[in-house]
Amino acid sequence: EPLIILKDIGRKYVIGTEIIHALKSVSLTINKGEFVALMGPSGSGKSTLMNILGCLDTPSKGEYILNGINVSNMTDNELAEVRNKEIGFVFQTFNLLPRNTALDNVALPLVYAGVNKENRRARASKSLENVGLGNRMDHKPNELSGGQRQRVAVARALINNPSIILADEPTGNLDTKTSIEIMGLIEDIHAKGNTIILVTHEEDIALHAHRIVRMRDGLVENDFANPNIQKVD
Ligand code: ADP
Ligand code: ADP
Repeated sequence: EPLIILKDIGRKYVIGTEIIHALKSVSLTINKGEFVALMGPSGSGKSTLMNILGCLDTPSKGEYILNGINVSNMTDNELAEVRNKEIGFVFQTFNLLPRNTALDNVALPLVYAGVNKENRRARASKSLENVGLGNRMDHKPNELSGGQRQRVAVARALINNPSIILADEPTGNLDTKTSIEIMGLIEDIHAKGNTIILVTHEEDIALHAHRIVRMRDGLVENDFANPNIQKVD
């Protein structure tokens, strides 16, 4: 069942008289429940593609169909609505609010979704328990380790039951042991049926994914199933 269909997506940036074709032509189909790693050298278009996939940006050409809806030509307000409903983001730098507790950070997307305070607390605490942080709910980010901060970010990404989790270098600021822990958590989330797209520079990290898409110069250079992982459908 296709969740994401990209048809001949292009994205160019015009800077003065210069035109940069960050994405030239990208066509990809990603099914519900896939775990995809997006790789490629710096400047190959990964961030540009993730921004489009996350409805933070729209393509200059081509079509993006997300969950059956053409989001290619939506207004910023329409995109924001799709984003809040469909996308969970996890970043390299965690992007937590420093003055807020873990619980309040996780509950934040529910504020935008108009959920009442009582339900927000109940759902956020459940989400924190699910990532193993039931005993850290009232801690602020600076009272947590890097791995715990990223767990908070994962709990926040999952809180709205999004269709897709987009993770941009989620282990980029973590040591090897903690990276492996976070990848274990992401694998668990995938095993529960979530669709995950992960940008990484590291081959070891990419090998947790079931499919590896490699970009170069704004194009998909190759796209293959991870031979180390048995397909389980
Ligand atoms: P990656 O994430 O793989 O490093 P990017 O998508 O960030 O690649 O960049 C692809 C190309 O587009 C690069 O040449 C980059 O300099 C350019 N680019 C990215 N974002 C912008 C922007 N906002 N304005 C102008 N050029 C950009
Ligand atoms: P990353 O690849 O680690 O996600 P960024 O997305 O910040 O890094 O940037 C990727 C590339 O895009 C870099 O080479 C950067 O110089 C370029 N880039 C990002 N934003 C702009 C911009 N506004 N103008 C020009 N180039 C940009």
